[in-house]
Order: sequence, then C-alpha cells, then structure tokens
Amino acid sequence: MTPAIDTPYPHLFAPLDLGFTTLRNRVLMGSMHTGLEDRARDFPRLAAYFAERAGGGVGLIVTGGFAPNLAGWLTPFGGKLSWPWETGPHRQLTRAVHEHGAKICLQLLHAGRYGYHPLQGAPSKLKAPINPFTPRALSARGVERQIDAFASAAARAREAGYDGVEVMGSEGYLINQFTAPRTNRRGDAWGGSAEKRMRFAVETVRRVREACGPDFILIYRLSLLDLVEDGNAWDEIVAQARAVEAAGATIINSGIGWHEARVPTIATSVPRAAFAGITARLKPEVALPLVAVNRINMPEVAEGILAAGQADLVSLARPLLADPEWPAKARAGRAHAINTCIACNQACLDHVFENRTASCLVNPRAVAETELNYLPTTAKKRIAVVGAGPAGLACATVAAQRGHAVVLFDAATEIGGQFNLAKRIPGKEEFHETLRYFGHRLAETGVELRLGTRAGPEQLACFDGIVLATGIVPRTVDFPGASHPMVVGYLDVLSGRARVADRVAVIGAGGIGFDVAEFLVHEGVSPSLDPVRWRAEWGVDIEGCGRGGLTPPRPEPPAREVWLLQRSPGRPGARLGKTTGWIHRATLKAKGVKMLGGVEYLGVDDAGLRIRLEGIEQVLPVGSVVVCAGQEPRRDLHAQLQAAGSTTPVHLIGGADVAAELDAKRAIDQGSRLAAAL
Ligand code: FAD
Ligand code: NAP
Ligand code: SF4
Repeated sequence: MTPAIDTPYPHLFAPLDLGFTTLRNRVLMGSMHTGLEDRARDFPRLAAYFAERAGGGVGLIVTGGFAPNLAGWLTPFGGKLSWPWETGPHRQLTRAVHEHGAKICLQLLHAGRYGYHPLQGAPSKLKAPINPFTPRALSARGVERQIDAFASAAARAREAGYDGVEVMGSEGYLINQFTAPRTNRRGDAWGGSAEKRMRFAVETVRRVREACGPDFILIYRLSLLDLVEDGNAWDEIVAQARAVEAAGATIINSGIGWHEARVPTIATSVPRAAFAGITARLKPEVALPLVAVNRINMPEVAEGILAAGQADLVSLARPLLADPEWPAKARAGRAHAINTCIACNQACLDHVFENRTASCLVNPRAVAETELNYLPTTAKKRIAVVGAGPAGLACATVAAQRGHAVVLFDAATEIGGQFNLAKRIPGKEEFHETLRYFGHRLAETGVELRLGTRAGPEQLACFDGIVLATGIVPRTVDFPGASHPMVVGYLDVLSGRARVADRVAVIGAGGIGFDVAEFLVHEGVSPSLDPVRWRAEWGVDIEGCGRGGLTPPRPEPPAREVWLLQRSPGRPGARLGKTTGWIHRATLKAKGVKMLGGVEYLGVDDAGLRIRLEGIEQVLPVGSVVVCAGQEPRRDLHAQLQAAGSTTPVHLIGGADVAAELDAKRAIDQGSRLAAAL
C-alpha cells in the first residue's frame, strides 16, 4: 500500500490497484436495500442517491441485493436481473456513479429459504425461524439452474455498465445455506462433507468469472461468523476463502451473522469495529484484499483497522446514508463535520422491514435527494427557534443554511434536549456524535445561539417567524401514593438528581422505560465501549474454532433488581423498533429484569409498589419507583404568545407538536422539512 499524503487518514485514502482497475480509495459503500430497487420507475431516484454518494468521494459502491432469478427473490416482485429488458434501467445507476469517478458493483443475492414467497428453494426442506414459508429442496438440476442464473445475471450486470458484482455468500442467504450444516442436509454432490457443502459457492464464483471475463470485479461476501448453531467452523471458512480465491474472486467482503442469529451485529449497542478482529484472522490465509465491516462509522476507526493491517478496505453502509460527504470530509481532515450514523436502525433497516423506503434519522434527505432540497431562500427572514432539542437543531441549521437569520434559544446550558439523557444510556454513546455534529453545524451556518435563556413573548417580539420546538413534559401518574418520596421521574434519574434504591420498579415499558431499565442494571463502563466484554456478554467467539463463532454468553451481574411494568396485556417491548426491540428484551432478560404486562397499579407505600397481576394482589418490595409513563407536548410558551396577542406566524414541531409516539426521527424530519419550506 502507498499511503496517501494529503490527509490525516493515509491508509484510508490510498488507492487500491486490482490489476485491471484501480479503486481511488479504501472506502466501499456496503450493500443496503433502500426500497427503490424493485421498480424501474424508481431508478432515477436511486441514481440520484448513488450519485450523491459517488460525488461525496466513496471508492466503490455495492448496490442493494438483486435476485438472479425468480426463485431467488427476497420478496415477491423484488428487484432481479434475469431477463434482457431488466438490464437497461441499470445504466442510469452506473452512469450516475461513473460521472463522479467512483466504481459500482451490483450485488447478486439469492434469498433461498429467506425468500418471503412460495417459489423459494433451498438445499434442504428446512423452514427458517424468521419466515413462515417452507422451502422446497432443490433437485440436482435445480442447483445447477441457480448457479447458471448467477452467471447470466452477472453477465447482464457487465452489459449494464457495472464494474463488477458482489456474490452474496453470507447472512444466511442461499449460498450460506449450502455451506452450513445447519441448513444443508443433502447427501448428494452438494452436501455432506465441508468440501461438498462449499461447492455451490465455489462453482458460482467460477461460473461468474467465466461469464464476465478477467477484468471484472468479483466480490465474494463470505460469512466469517454465522453466529448460529451448526454454522461453519473456522477451518471450513478458511477453506472456503481459499477456494473462492482460486475460483476467481477479486475481493472478499466479510459477512457477520445470519438474519436469524440472536446476537446483535449492527445495532448501536454493538461496539465500534467489534468484528474487525475476525477479518484480521483471515488476512494471513489468503492473498486477495479483504473488507472489514459493521459499526465502522468514523474515519479514525476505519484508519485504525487499515493501519493495523486487519483489512484492505472498510465497508461503510449506513454511515453513507447519514452523510454522503463522509469520505470527502475525512480526506480533508474535517471528521468533526461528519453527520455520524448512530446505528439506531430507525429510519433505514426498520423502514425496509416495514416495506417502506429507507431514509436516515439524522439525515432525512437520504434516499429523498430528488424531493427534499435545502435551496437558498429568496426572501430572507428573521426566525426564532425555541428549543435546541433534535427538532429545533434541525430546523435552525437548515433555515440558516438557506440564508435566514436564525436565533436559537434554549433554557438549558447545552444543546440537545432529551438527547442529553439518551446519550447516558449504556449502548447509546453514539448519541454524543449527533450533538457534536449539530454543534458544528450551528457554528458553520451562523445560527445565533442563546443558551440558558428561557424564551418568553418579550424575547420573541422582533421576529418574522417563530418555531416552537419546546419538547415535552413527562406524564405523571395518579394512583394512591404517587407523591411518596420513593416515586421519581425518569428525568431526575437519568440526570443523576434522584438516587435509586437496589430494588426498583419502572412504570411504563415504552422506549424510555426500557432505556431506564438498562441504565439501572448496568454499572461502570458500558460494554458497548469494550468489545471484549461485549463479546463475552453475547457469547461471540472470534478466536476459537467452535461452529458458528458461538460460545456460552457470560452476562455481567445486574447492578440492581428491576421490575419493568406496563398496564397493557402482552409482552413488554412489542412496540419497540422492528430490528432492535429483540435486543433490548434480550439484554434485560440476561440481567434478570422481570418484564410484566397486564399490571394494575394499586398504590405506593413504605412496603413498595402494590400491583394486581392476573387478579392477584402483590407487593413488589422496591425502594424506588421510576415513572416512564410517556409524555405530553410542552406548549406553555405557545399559550403565552397567544395570550400576548402575538401576530407573528408560529410553527410547532417535534414533541411540542405531537408528543405521542415522538422520536428523534420525526423531530429531525419535521424540523428539516419545515425549514426547507420557510
Ligand atoms: P426535546 O428534545 O425535548 O427538546 C426540547 C428543548 O426545548 C429542551 O432542550 C428544552 O430545554 C427547550 N425548551 C422548552 N421550553 C423552552 C423555552 N421556553 N425557552 C427555551 N428553551 C425551551 N428517540 C429516538 O428516536 N431514538 C432513541 O433511541 C431515543 N432514545 C431516547 C432515550 C431517552 C432516555 C430519552 C429521554 C429520549 C429518547 N428518545 C429517542 C426521544 C428523543 O430524544 C425525543 O424524541 C427528541 O429529543 C424530541 O425532540 P424535541 O426537539 O421535540 O424535544
Ligand atoms: P411510550 O412509548 O409512549 O411509552 C409510555 C409507557 O407508559 C407505555 O408503556 C404505557 O404503557 C405507559 N403509560 C402511559 N400512560 C400511563 C399512565 N397514565 N400511567 C402508567 N403508565 C402509563 O413513551 P416513552 O417510553 O416515554 O417514549 C417516548 C418516545 O421516545 C417513544 O415514542 C419512543 O419512540 C422514543 N424512544 C425511542 C427509543 C428507541 O430505542 N427507538 C428509545 C427511547 C425513546 P401502558 O399504557 O400499557 O401502561
Ligand atoms: Fe444510521 Fe440510524 Fe441513519 Fe440508519 S437511521 S443510517 S442507523 S443514523
């Protein structure tokens, strides 16, 4: 490697010579499904999305997954590349990327038993635990047909102008189903021994290479950690890597964890670069370039991996949704200006799982590049924004970027609103980054910041427009004993104003109730900041030889005994994020938290919290009761402005507008969209 000389990240920006072509740097944009891949009419939007990332300096882009044939569909009518007329629309994507000097590979993904439709086929007739459809076992001819489909789809990708393809061999999709004993029970030439199980993968790579010629990038995504029982053993993974190298792969990308794995792999509580060590372990075994993946969100993390020789490229997927300019900012030594992905999954993965177009919580323009633009204003106004929580910060910075004169008030002495509480939750340390970013944006866009100032009608008299982003007030409870000294609110607990006993009941099991419970059971440094402790808690073994990279989890003992309660019947946490709710439930379960639904609160007295559960009265012997019972909009200032007869146009955003089901995604989106229209 010849390190780049004009940047603080010399390894990250060193070109990568692949022999027949050169990547301009080591940043690979990992494959992400956006929801725009499935219909050709959405390709102009997809092209604009890719163009912005290519313009932001990424070296190589990998598209979302396209099936090589109908059987490989992830969902019915999903994007595929099996017929001649499906090639044309892709030229918009390849052209858009090439115009900005980046390269682009199409990902070929055959879902196998993860296909959400009845046409799916798999090595064996074994239903996936996350899919209601049972696959048919492919016949020997069927197996050949799938491999040929990969090869012809790759040839079509070349025709469409792609620089290469990524063959998806990990995450529990079809190829991975062939390689692992968990899902491959065949006794023919495609199953049984490790060599026969990997034959599908090797043959696919060989035929793709044959179909596309030597000067075409062929990335093979290899599952380095299956994180499921009966996954591959390490020596089998090494053998597979060597075999795909010999069969013609150009680059090996790392795959971490099947979709059905019960170990988090990309959530915010996963430490940064938690899995780089497994890519490093493969490094001495093969000669071709390796890509490190997952939770690499800042340039110093990426540079550290490359400088230590753990990998040759880094894959950033969600970080490029959050900030398309990530590579350009890093290269120029402006890491402080990066809008960092906080790994919340709320607007990207959760949307995809709900069949909605992906976007990004911290960047509502992501995948909305053709409709949400912050154009310079032609009518400059003086705007007051009250409240420097996520809604107010987004609104103030976008309005100022467009040329308005913006004053931002907050009664607190720091920006961030409730994000200052969120960042204290173990596993939510990334929330600091959003506040760092907004702090930078306020200065860059010239917003006048007035902290420690509770705005009233008199401060707001001289503006052309007022935006109230005053947030929420926590809801109080009204059962007997609600004013007992042991009853405290979550604001006081998280800000450290209230002391909490060793036995605690948390009232309310929404997002905040879960976060507060996690806060209460942890003590000391968060495991999310310590990959070794984190891997021990979740039972991930990156050094051993056990199948699937699993070892028995060793959760640290809880700091307190906690009950997490809700009145609604059913399992607490059912309304948490689609892709992260299970992680919160599993974390609390491992810490012995008792999660109860269908609880009736009878009252609090010196003995504890009296409840009725399934018709039986009982006392929870707790010394603290923490109320996390939701929120109401904070509109005191709105009322004062109305009473003062103010005629200035007033806009309500974030929690001040609607507190029910408020989250930062809505707050930032609403603030940004309002500012785009002011
Ligand atoms: P707020 O963040 O409440 O900000 C309102 C601001 O207005 C405050 O700073 C306040 O001081 C100021 N203010 C009020 N009145 C005045 C006045 N008269 N003058 C001056 N200033 C005033 N959301 C997610 O999406 N994902 C999460 O993972 C997540 N985790 C969370 C964890 C915790 C522990 C908490 C508490 C919240 C979490 N949230 C999360 C929710 C998220 O923080 C809120 O949805 C978001 O902060 C709401 O933004 P907002 O701007 O509307 O209001
Ligand atoms: P919430 O999700 O609305 O949950 C409020 C909880 O309080 C519910 O469990 C509710 O359940 C209970 N409750 C409501 N009224 C009550 C009353 N009068 N007495 C007793 N219990 C009552 O609100 P939240 O937990 O405060 O979270 C606020 C927002 O922040 C949420 O919308 C969430 O999206 C966001 N957030 C998100 C995350 C995340 O990880 N994505 C994390 C934290 C916060 P019952 O009515 O069944 O008792
Ligand atoms: Fe990252 Fe959250 Fe944005 Fe997804 S929604 S890209 S996880 S910040």
